[in-house]
Amino acid sequence: MTDLSEYRVRKEPFYQPQGHEVSLFAAAYRRRLPVMVKGPTGCGKSRFIEYMAWQLDRPLITVACNEDMSASDLVGRYLLDAGGTRWIDGPLTVAARLGAICYLDEVVEARQDTTVVIHSLTDHRRALPLDKKGELVRAHPDFQLVISYNPGYQSLMKDLKSSTKQRFAAFDFAYPPPELETEILVREAGVPAHVAAQLVCIGGVARKLKGHGLDEGISTRLLVYAGVLIQDGVTPQDACRMALVTPITDDADIRATLEHAIRATF
Ligand code: ADP
Repeated sequence: MTDLSEYRVRKEPFYQPQGHEVSLFAAAYRRRLPVMVKGPTGCGKSRFIEYMAWQLDRPLITVACNEDMSASDLVGRYLLDAGGTRWIDGPLTVAARLGAICYLDEVVEARQDTTVVIHSLTDHRRALPLDKKGELVRAHPDFQLVISYNPGYQSLMKDLKSSTKQRFAAFDFAYPPPELETEILVREAGVPAHVAAQLVCIGGVARKLKGHGLDEGISTRLLVYAGVLIQDGVTPQDACRMALVTPITDDADIRATLEHAIRATF
C-alpha cells in the first residue's frame, strides 16, 4: 500500500496569484472537475498546483509526461520478482484509489493513445479500468485530475485530441505582469527590488522577440535563476548570460539583441 503522506505538501509554497485563480480552482475542486492549466513553460503552473494541493490539504502526485510514456506507466503493470508476478499500481491509479490530486505535467508530450486512459476518470464514470488486471478502480471521492499544457508547442503531431480537451475546465496562464514578477523574484531569489525589476525588464525585451526568432520568451524560472546567481555573487552581466541568453538561443542576432539589453540595464 502506498503511503500517501509522502505526497503531502508540508510547507505552504510561495505562490503569487495573478487573478482569481485560487478561488476558481477551489470551486472546480469542490465539484471535482478535471482542470487543465495552459501556458508557456516556467510561468508558474506547477507552483500554482502545488499551492492548491497545500491549500486544499490533498496529497499531490505529479507525473512529468514524455513521448516514451505508455499507458502502463500511468495505470500500472505486473512485475516479476522473487515471489512471482506482482501488480504495481501506476501513479494515476494510486491517486485515484487513495484520493490525491494527480498532476500530469506537459500532458501533450505523451502519445494520444496514452492520454486516452484518463477519459473514464474525467467523466461521470470516475473510474479507471485496469484491463491487464481485470479490475475497475472507482475513484476516491477526493481524487482530482489536473493536466498542464503548453499551447506554444502545439502542432498537428502534438496536440490533445478534442475529445480529451473537452473534459477539462481550463486556466490560461501567462508570464506574470512586471510588478508581480518583480515581487516573485524578490521572494524566490532574494534579490533587492531594483535588481528584480532590472531582470524583469530584460525578460520583457526577450518576450517581445517571441515569433521574431525566439520560440518562447525568457521564463520566470530563468529570471529566478539569474537572480539566484546574482545573490551568490556572480556579476549581473554573467548571471544574465548564463541564465537568460545561452539557454534559450544560439542565434547570433538574438543573442546580440539580448546582450545589448543586458548592458543597457546593468
Ligand atoms: P511551469 O509553468 O513550467 O510549471 P513553475 O510553476 O515550475 O513553471 O514555475 C517556475 C518557477 O517560477 C517557480 O519555481 C517559481 O520560482 C517561479 N514562479 C513563477 N510564477 C510564480 C508565482 N506566481 N508565484 C511564485 N513563484 C512563481
